[in-house]
Amino acid sequence: MTVLVLGGAGYVGSHAVAMLVEKGYDVAVVDNLVTGHREAVPADVRFYEGDVRDHSFLASVFEKENIEGIMHFCAYSLVGESMQKPLMYFNNNVGGAQVILETMQEFGVKHIVFSSTAATFGIPEHSPISEKTPQKPINPYGESKLIMEKMMKWQSEATDMTYVALRYFNVAGAKDDGTIGEAHKNETHLIPIILQTALGQREFITIYGDDYNTPDGTCIRDYIDMEDLIDAHIKALEYLKAGGKSDQFNLGSSKGYSNLEVLETARKVTGHAIPSQMGERRPGDPDELVADSTKAGEILGWKVQHDLEHIITNAWKWHQSHPKGY
Ligand code: NAD
Repeated sequence: MTVLVLGGAGYVGSHAVAMLVEKGYDVAVVDNLVTGHREAVPADVRFYEGDVRDHSFLASVFEKENIEGIMHFCAYSLVGESMQKPLMYFNNNVGGAQVILETMQEFGVKHIVFSSTAATFGIPEHSPISEKTPQKPINPYGESKLIMEKMMKWQSEATDMTYVALRYFNVAGAKDDGTIGEAHKNETHLIPIILQTALGQREFITIYGDDYNTPDGTCIRDYIDMEDLIDAHIKALEYLKAGGKSDQFNLGSSKGYSNLEVLETARKVTGHAIPSQMGERRPGDPDELVADSTKAGEILGWKVQHDLEHIITNAWKWHQSHPKGY
């Protein structure tokens, strides 16, 4: 039986493929390479290049593979871009999910583990953010992911399909041998931007605001290590296979780090000065976004193993060995 990884050539998906293979799962990948990299998927993993919105293409993959479960990573995920091009986001994210769910029903595939996001919560009134926190997205990206969660919920109520939605906060890190890692064309994430600065690819890093209501005045965010994140996906898949009911979980380290703490840790790990400057606050940035992952611990038996230093150490291995990406 095969785990089909949709979006398996992307940052998170490629790490899922690597860990599934390491753990002995049979894996196949679908990706249209819009933001992914063919090189991120091992040559001996079956790879189908195509778009999940193309039903006849996807059905041909389901025809060939004996699929026991799906991991879904294939989405657009840039908040700023989603504000400029909302329909492109609804088309790919929501339209893609619809075709995937239809094809699963057609072929009797029962389980899907889905990448959702902290962006479905918008700006919550309280932190840490639990599964009971109201979801009020403030951008089309977060809205599209919330719609996808709801599509899965209704479909699971109407059929025998079950799903787990994992809402992650900031994913970071890389495989510990540095062979795969984060290579986004338009990098918007703090840790790779800091490491690009350490490599001299950027002059300095701008920290946006030091007058937030936090101990050092800079925003606090929750970083989850890639290995911990994929471990949660595999636990979620096994939970569904064992008959677990559809559910949603917030995934983070339940411990935030301020922007300055991230920068200081990167300076320590890399041994580089990493020049920085303080900029203005960005509109809509809350003081603190931290996940309460208690429920994932209780139901999935998931526990964070790695701290920020581990995350940055692995990310640094990747950036040093692949300064230009793939
Ligand atoms: P990514 O862009 O690196 O990966 C997405 C992959 O999906 C790419 O390989 C892309 O080519 C593929 N894809 C996109 N649309 C497709 C389509 N229609 N058909 C086939 N393939 C398609 O992004 P990522 O950072 O790896 O994120 C993966 C998932 O995790 C996304 O759904 C994202 O919303 C979610 N997520 C990521 C983060 C993070 O910090 N990176 C945080 C929260 C949630």
